[in-house]
Amino acid sequence: MKALVYHGIGQKHWEEKALPQIIEPTDAVVRIIKTTICGTDLHILKGDVPAVEKGRILGHEGIGIVESIGKSVRNINVGDKVIISCITVCGSCSYCKRQLYSHCNDGGWILGHKIDGTQAEQVRIPHADNSLHRLPEGINEEAALMLSDILPTGLEIGVINGKVQPGQTIALIGAGPVGLSALLASQFYSPAHIIMIDTDDNRLHVAQQFGANTIINPARQNVVETIKELTDGLGVDVAIECVGIPATFKICQDIITAGGYIANVGVHGKSVELHLEELWIKNITITTGLVNTSSTPMLLKSVQSGKISPEKLVTHRYPLSEIETAYEVFGNASQEKALKIVLTAE
Ligand SMILES: [Zn+2]
Ligand SMILES: [Zn+2]
Repeated sequence: MKALVYHGIGQKHWEEKALPQIIEPTDAVVRIIKTTICGTDLHILKGDVPAVEKGRILGHEGIGIVESIGKSVRNINVGDKVIISCITVCGSCSYCKRQLYSHCNDGGWILGHKIDGTQAEQVRIPHADNSLHRLPEGINEEAALMLSDILPTGLEIGVINGKVQPGQTIALIGAGPVGLSALLASQFYSPAHIIMIDTDDNRLHVAQQFGANTIINPARQNVVETIKELTDGLGVDVAIECVGIPATFKICQDIITAGGYIANVGVHGKSVELHLEELWIKNITITTGLVNTSSTPMLLKSVQSGKISPEKLVTHRYPLSEIETAYEVFGNASQEKALKIVLTAE
């Protein structure tokens, strides 16, 4: 089969690899229908994730058809159309028993990281019963693909960790695919006012279409002053950080109201300043996390009923064999006006 293989910092190649095989009785092998590229894949290529070894097939998002199953797999059958969760779940370790699947002792985020991933014609999925979700008949495949990672991430690590409530004023910092996913998911909880902050006008425009009430571009506007005016000087109830740089984490600290929540979603490559000299008195909560994907079954129902339409995040489509071109486009996301790129196997 063909797969996208990591060959060290800045190097990847679409090349021939051996077909994956069942190794453990709990494994399944899935033939990919659609996959996509994540910002995390770009971090890997920059060398930010040293656990990824040369020769590793990248990718942790996908939908596909089950090709074969190990003899202990019970809930998934050959021929099932499934979402591949970015998080592998054994279901029985102490973390899994607390639904902290991202820290599973025999799973967590391993696809395209510690084991071969989904940017390939086929992929081996460990603990298939818990790590695959069968797709309902007739569901939009591109919407389902967004449930592998980004929509559960925006919901669980942004909206649920940030305890978004009806009537609140919330700010999302970063209108990339995960920030926009958090924007979509926040609307389950009916905040009164959603503010999106980003330096990219195209992404701000998309955020408006997705339901943001106010957009702020820090290149032209003073974020703190603008938010003070909007909130009678109080600040926002929830600030969801979806970028992962010191400047955006600073904005969260500057705009949060007393008793508020700062939910960090962004992947940080270096340390940030924590202004406890300002915040010690403000009764705020700061949360961090890696997605558990425990919300995926609920999100599937919401997609099926039309409550949420994450396929709106898809801006570009390519055949899977043109994945190297797709990486170039995704790497220039701002100029290309790219959010999620769908790669479809021929
Ligand atoms: Zn991802
Ligand atoms: Zn586990």
